[in-house]
Amino acid sequence: AALTLQSAIQGAPDSTAVIVPSRPLALSVTYKELVSEVASFQQKLAAIGIAQGSPVSIATVNSYEFIVSFLAASWQRAIAAPLNPAYKQAEFEFYIEDVKSAIVLVPRGAYQSASPAVKAAQRFNAAIAECYWDAAKKEVALDVKELGQLQGKPGQPVLKPEPEDIALVLHTSGTTSRPKVVPLSHRNLTRTMQNIQQTYQLTAADRTMLVMPLFHVHGLLCGLLAPLYSGGSVVVPTKFSASDFWRDFVTHKANWYTAVPTIHQILLKNPTPNPLPPIRFIRSCSSPLSPTVFHALEETYKAPVLEAYAMTEAAHQMTSNPLPSVGKRKPGTVGVGQGVEVVILDDAGKPVPQGREGEICIRGANVTRGYLNNPEANRAAFTADGYFRTGDQGRKDEDGYVVITGRIKELINKGGEKISPIELDNVLTRHPAVSEAVSFAVPDDMYGQDIGVAVVLKPGHRLRDDELKAWVADKLAKFKVPKKVYFTDVMPKTATGKIQRRIVAEAMQKQEG
Ligand code: ATP
Ligand code: MG
Repeated sequence: AALTLQSAIQGAPDSTAVIVPSRPLALSVTYKELVSEVASFQQKLAAIGIAQGSPVSIATVNSYEFIVSFLAASWQRAIAAPLNPAYKQAEFEFYIEDVKSAIVLVPRGAYQSASPAVKAAQRFNAAIAECYWDAAKKEVALDVKELGQLQGKPGQPVLKPEPEDIALVLHTSGTTSRPKVVPLSHRNLTRTMQNIQQTYQLTAADRTMLVMPLFHVHGLLCGLLAPLYSGGSVVVPTKFSASDFWRDFVTHKANWYTAVPTIHQILLKNPTPNPLPPIRFIRSCSSPLSPTVFHALEETYKAPVLEAYAMTEAAHQMTSNPLPSVGKRKPGTVGVGQGVEVVILDDAGKPVPQGREGEICIRGANVTRGYLNNPEANRAAFTADGYFRTGDQGRKDEDGYVVITGRIKELINKGGEKISPIELDNVLTRHPAVSEAVSFAVPDDMYGQDIGVAVVLKPGHRLRDDELKAWVADKLAKFKVPKKVYFTDVMPKTATGKIQRRIVAEAMQKQEG
């Protein structure tokens, strides 16, 4: 079995690997072209000083250059550290400092316009390079603008990755403490690629529409790497667009896609393609899919809907509902372990009796060996038997299908985007008029959850909710702006003076209604 991201990309040389529909000139790339592009980009990285273990931050939208730079970094035994290109400067600074980026790859023109990613990179003396498709030269350009700390290290040898090398680092969303850094090795990633390939019996004949961002495991592992491992192809628009989705799907003959429930719901609200293209299956993951949406999808698109369950620490997938040829689909469940052992444990770490609730725990070669520089979190996360504690509450039903019943932690899951209430509290309480602020999830038709905040003002101060939202919008990415602001005179607290977000949420909604 292929154990590195180099040996795992072995599609037939002349078959299509990547299609980019959304350029002035559409791009279509074969496996032979992809592999040689990655190899030549790897040489460019080595030439400027990227060596084993160098963190390479990629801050571009979904694109051919993202795919090439990501794979090239991993082949060079460096560590890809993708970042949401929509971050504000303070967010870039946090992540760039945390992963100690050696270089930050930004889109064309970002240096000239001193984009937030560029300013953040400069603060930490990371190298800065624009990375883009050079249509004239027909290659992915690495246009170095500043060498930063790479100065003096040019001309590194071209390397070959090993299974235990860390290929990728991503952050968790940070519920109870600051976001944790999750290192994932070539072995972890290739195991997930194999697990996903097997779950959906992906072959060279399959083509997926990739609409999830590549800076999260969902898009990266299921949308891109598993299809490439299977020798199939990927259609990659720069971002999800409801109006372009089916046009691209039909034009480029895709036959499946994976997305968060929010995207499925947006598609359902838009026109259905007529005639319907053949769709082998639709996968849903990262947030709970309501049975209503499940049935609407199956009826509208005449395709089996397979809900899966995933997390960053597992390099994405843990469980999934099976294909119709393999077993039954059960809406409201996330199916069964797919190459991953799943057990339900009680507080003491003992398996619960069949059907009872407990913490969902997992074990497999896909699971991270542990958070970076965080022994305390690692002690809490792994059981004596080496199971990883997901932090999710759940049970197995009579068929052994996993039902997720709640999150032990209190992250706000806005359509698959996880928002840390602590980070938001911190921004809110920095406002000069705010004395106390507590963020929590409020139910939302579109996103499943959206953000509510309870705010106590300082005596003698006045503040409108739109002023507070503008304050947040100035400091954090747009998806972190609260939907509802509840002003209150006192913040509900426990006897020991601690905040329980769920209690605050209930009190605010009661106060309002
Ligand atoms: P942190 O670890 O910092 O608290 P996080 O767990 O929210 O962040 P991710 O790794 O992106 O960050 O998300 C994994 C979580 O997403 C799972 O633990 C689970 O709570 C939720 N999740 C994933 N798939 C599903 C699903 N199909 N149904 C319900 N919840 C899901
Ligand atoms: Mg988590």
